Amino acid sequence: MKILWEEIDFVLLDLDGTLLDKHFDDYFWEEHIPEQYAKLMQISIKDAKTEIYAAYKVQEGKLVWTDIDYWSNRFNMDIPALKESVSHLVAVHEGVFPFLEFLQCAGKRVAVLTNAHAKAVEIKLTKIPLRPYLQKIVSANEVGFPKEVCGYWEAAEKIVGFKKERSLFVDDNEEVLMMAKLFGIKHLVYKSYASSQIDRRDSNRFVSIRHFSEIVPPIQSRNEDVPRSLIKI
Ligand SMILES: [Mg+2]
Repeated sequence: MKILWEEIDFVLLDLDGTLLDKHFDDYFWEEHIPEQYAKLMQISIKDAKTEIYAAYKVQEGKLVWTDIDYWSNRFNMDIPALKESVSHLVAVHEGVFPFLEFLQCAGKRVAVLTNAHAKAVEIKLTKIPLRPYLQKIVSANEVGFPKEVCGYWEAAEKIVGFKKERSLFVDDNEEVLMMAKLFGIKHLVYKSYASSQIDRRDSNRFVSIRHFSEIVPPIQSRNEDVPRSLIKI
């Protein structure tokens, strides 16, 4: 897949599912939280899952969904502490660091645009050292909107200072990519391999990649940097 890198100055990257393996979040919210809630409430895991999944459903796509303080209050559990307790399971997708190295060498400005709460980001980036490659991190709860809403993009544009027509945005959520498209981000890529435990699902609407290696240009031959007149044949 060819990306027109010469047309791109800003690279905007989602975090969970795009840079990091979404399996951690799926496991945490779908298994670990119900298990802990079942212990707390002394109910079966099955009943805990029914109650908790219903609570998630109500907040899907809303800002509250991203707010781990809300969920701490909602379930009467310390969600950041629970995340910390299983943070050894946080994993980065294959090919992410070489991709970030490439972007750094190419002089691109890189920002993470995430719906994840700042506290969750902190826990994850303590485990996976992405910060040296990032100019900015924009969390939904810090700007007051999730990425599915135009307000997020207006705030992110101010914070990061990106130019829409010179930006590439990569996300594993098609709804978010649609919003980015409506906002005017020119280059859009769908990350189709969000969780290591779930098969790849390509997008019908956006260019899909499984690994970032698919959009890193091959290393140029040294000879290509040397004027042809100086190459001895
Ligand atoms: Mg994601």
